[in-house]
Amino acid sequence: MMSPYLIKPEAKGLGMTSQRARDRMVDRLRSEGGIRDERVLNALRVLPRHLFIEEALSSRAYEDTALPIGKGQTISQPWVVAKMTEALIEHGMPKKVLEIGTGSGYQGSVLATLGIEVFTVERIEELLRQARRRFRNLGLNIRSKHVDGHIGWAEYAPFDAIIVTAGAAAIVPELLEQLSEGGTLIAPVGGSNVQKLLRLRKTIDGISQEDLGNVVFVPLVTGII
Ligand code: SAH
Repeated sequence: MMSPYLIKPEAKGLGMTSQRARDRMVDRLRSEGGIRDERVLNALRVLPRHLFIEEALSSRAYEDTALPIGKGQTISQPWVVAKMTEALIEHGMPKKVLEIGTGSGYQGSVLATLGIEVFTVERIEELLRQARRRFRNLGLNIRSKHVDGHIGWAEYAPFDAIIVTAGAAAIVPELLEQLSEGGTLIAPVGGSNVQKLLRLRKTIDGISQEDLGNVVFVPLVTGII
């Protein structure tokens, strides 16, 4: 008789199939999502997204959808992560990136997987604690801070790129100040239902701005908890 304990549920549900599930997710991002950068696709192929969400939802980890991570927040949809990452590195791989809104830690981990030095800040301490545990378990060297991202992280500025992963009515001026010349800032800007994904580039002549299309993010909120 076969012992019911021979097959661990995590091996059956995730370990055995998650690589195949990720491969399929990446194939879809390429064919239907129009994601072209193989470096980005590869980062999403190797990073186990199911480890960034609670176990009850892990069977849905490789669907192209945002999922709740607690405290009313969400892990971004894989397509959005891929799109933002692609836009961030398109004009050259940044060395140092600041992320506003650590959340689950997934977006920051994608950037770290690309070899980028990542600094990430989060206003909700409980989420940051869980994200830090994930960084540790995955052996990713990511610096993080419990702070309101409206002030950025001046101590390590300037950054080659800044990625804001929460929606605001306008670009936060402090963050533009912490961007190096030639640097890129990506942020969802708009109302609470839908935002425009903006890419700003800081040049010697000033700031240029592009609209990369509509996205939906949870709001950028003031203060820490
Ligand atoms: N990048 C995340 C998803 C972002 S969800 C991931 O990959 O999972 C948006 C996150 O931004 C939430 O965790 C929210 O708490 C955080 N946030 C909102 N306003 C913030 C602020 N002012 N400063 C720092 N973090 C903020």
